[in-house]
Amino acid sequence: MTTTTASAEELQQRAQRLDADDAIAHARERFDLPEGVIYLDGNSLGALPSCVPDAVADVVRQQWGHDLIASWNSHDWWGAPLRVGDAVGRLVGAAPGQVAVGDSTSVNLFKCYVAAARLRPGRTVVVSDPGVFPTDQYVLEGAASLAGLQIVHARPDELGAVLERRGHEVALVSFSHVDYRTGQLWDLPGLTRAVHDVGALALWDLCHSAGVVEVGLDEHEVDLAVGCGYKYLNGGPGAPAFIYVASRLQDEFDQPLSGWHGHARPFAMEGSFAPAGGIARAKVGTPPLLSVLALEAALTAYEGLELAAVRRKSLSLTGFFIECVQQLLPDVEIVSPLDDDRRGSQVALRHPQAYAVVQALIARGVVGDFREPDVVRLGFAPLYLSHADVLASAQQLAEVLERREFEDARYATRAQVT
Ligand SMILES: *Cc1c(COP(=O)(O)O)cnc(C)c1O
Repeated sequence: MTTTTASAEELQQRAQRLDADDAIAHARERFDLPEGVIYLDGNSLGALPSCVPDAVADVVRQQWGHDLIASWNSHDWWGAPLRVGDAVGRLVGAAPGQVAVGDSTSVNLFKCYVAAARLRPGRTVVVSDPGVFPTDQYVLEGAASLAGLQIVHARPDELGAVLERRGHEVALVSFSHVDYRTGQLWDLPGLTRAVHDVGALALWDLCHSAGVVEVGLDEHEVDLAVGCGYKYLNGGPGAPAFIYVASRLQDEFDQPLSGWHGHARPFAMEGSFAPAGGIARAKVGTPPLLSVLALEAALTAYEGLELAAVRRKSLSLTGFFIECVQQLLPDVEIVSPLDDDRRGSQVALRHPQAYAVVQALIARGVVGDFREPDVVRLGFAPLYLSHADVLASAQQLAEVLERREFEDARYATRAQVT
């Protein structure tokens, strides 16, 4: 008993010290979060930046309501997908002119898969991780059957063996930078180099790394990338996704959804498709402007923050959470890598009743989520969480488990969204 109390006090003091040293603590004021909630699901739906409601109200009332159709020019609605794309690019290490915002991650993946096959004619293999987020797999199945590609499954740590045997056949290697379930961060620079060594293209899904991990798309010569707007970028429910095509590939980037917003002369209303120059050819149809402009406002929450500092804070939060779990819940299995270099911004724990554990935690004001089959997934958004939040959530989890609150019948039935 005495040791428990002593270590609880020690953790409290550590939390206070870490928060006192937090170089980006002021970013918390840029968010509206409900009282009494510790939000550990920013990797599923980012929190609301305080500036967004007024920005959206202005778009609706002034730009749409008053200025009407003129807003396409006067408020540069037309330029928004590439303008906001550049803002996302700053967070993922892409120089301007290589990122477009629009469509969903699923749709952007489809463009990339087919375009990659066309960029590497004669090569018919796509390597993909069987553990990747399902939509990446499903869309690849659809694209592969259309483009005549063969899917070869390999985890990123098995890639070397596949490339050794079949490298000359590989058109594209498609991986997630951070595993959505385990939070494992893969070696983007090293894997991209290995892919290039066999003459193939590298596509990275940044859904769980954009905004929290230094990605360095240009620096590491990544070819193609996609990612979500509504996770750590805080763009709001259904926010548009983004697509990155490296400048050197844009002239040859021949994506299959040849819509009028990707046309070289959209208002010439020509009878046949001619792709726009640059990243504009990744666009398809009219974008959801309310959402594009909500994302643009949301990204201002990153103003003045270095991604390196954001990453340091993220590692400090997840590292401290791991420490708390090891002290307070020594029997709980930590699925995420303990090694900082291999961890994204989340900590996944394993529990046979994971769904019910998450529900019991939510009832205590700690919001995380469940992922099949037995993972309690807790995302640590560095812009709006403190080390005090981290300790409090570990303590709440300890109580849920000690009191076996997950056995409550209320938590047995699954909701539609888990
Ligand atoms: C969240 C997520 C998606 C979501 O795709 P949508 O088309 O936006 O629904 C896709 N891939 C990964 C890896 C994700 O984490």
